[in-house]
Amino acid sequence: MKVGILGGGQLARMLAQAGAPMGVSCMFLSPDAQACAMPFGQHLCVAYDDPDGQRRLADWADVVTYEFENVPETAVAVLEQRRPVYPSSLALAASRDRLVEKHRFRALGLATAEFRAVDSLADLITAAAEIGLPAILKTRVQGYDGKGQTVLRSTTDLRVAWERLGHMPGILESMVSFDRELSVIAARTRTGATVHYPVSENHHRDGVLRLSLNREGDAMQRPAEVMISRLLHDLDYVGVLALELFQVGDRLLANEMAPRVHNSGHWTIEAAPTSQFENHLRAICGLSLGATTPIRQAATVNLIGRVPPEAEISAIAGATPHFYGKSERPGRKVGHVTLVDTPDALEPFERRLAQLLQVARVPELHYCVTAMP
Ligand code: AMP
Repeated sequence: MKVGILGGGQLARMLAQAGAPMGVSCMFLSPDAQACAMPFGQHLCVAYDDPDGQRRLADWADVVTYEFENVPETAVAVLEQRRPVYPSSLALAASRDRLVEKHRFRALGLATAEFRAVDSLADLITAAAEIGLPAILKTRVQGYDGKGQTVLRSTTDLRVAWERLGHMPGILESMVSFDRELSVIAARTRTGATVHYPVSENHHRDGVLRLSLNREGDAMQRPAEVMISRLLHDLDYVGVLALELFQVGDRLLANEMAPRVHNSGHWTIEAAPTSQFENHLRAICGLSLGATTPIRQAATVNLIGRVPPEAEISAIAGATPHFYGKSERPGRKVGHVTLVDTPDALEPFERRLAQLLQVARVPELHYCVTAMP
């Protein structure tokens, strides 16, 4: 199979790496001349809406997918006329605008934070009065990793926050005092067969994901699966879908969905029989899905801004580094390390994870490792 991918970042790179042993070859359409997926396939270095680039991708590929939800909808719609595109443009449209997304969640019975549409300073003042403060003002589109978001603590913050939003359409959300952040990842085939991975517990720093722990047997697994299944069914979804959740007591609130492979599922490469990347390719290529039950306890730690010396990582038993081949820059995801609970390691999993967080320069994250049941 030949898979065309819109985007050429680390998610496209890991999709192509998963595809190689399956006999899947990839072509990336990305305007980034330094696209880090480049060593793993052909690269069309053009704008997403370049008609010639789109034609070449569609002529070459059997099926087209994308690695992030900010690709122009028009590019996906054009490609969809020529080749199967999974997930569909409907799934893309459902997830790229936070307001549309939250309305869909509510319509499907998925609880969310309180929210209001904000198109003017007057809207913001009314919304803040209705929802209460603290609250978070977000851009409706193009936001990711905490970008385009401002926390509002007092009414004196409103004007500045509205200016900072750049007068873009926004959404005001109540600030959720959550106990945990979780995500659930599922894959669905063209015929509707579905598999779920165990939920991940996620820890952020400055709005960026730093640590994901797999939580096999978590009490929230079943409710999370019910929530994501409604979305999969509603969108007649094909491929991997991720749903980010806030846990408050024993309730789950839907925060956002990602119509793609997800950072919180990188541990599936080492710790699940079939990784999220392989299952995405299987789903979009019309193949059966592979098993998802993890074989070990695992955690993924993101490397942000700098790549630590490889020797520091390889000194930790059960740690597998993934370097994305990107240059170092503050705030940039340059790699990740997955730690698995190898039975032959001398140190317990928890101690090795603390060591890894030290190497990744986030030793102070608060998390708790529980043994797999
Ligand atoms: P998002 O881009 O919506 O995934 O937000 C990035 C991070 O900001 C989330 O993972 C949370 O840690 C935090 N966050 C976003 N929305 C809220 C909210 N309504 N209440 C509390 N924290 C939030």
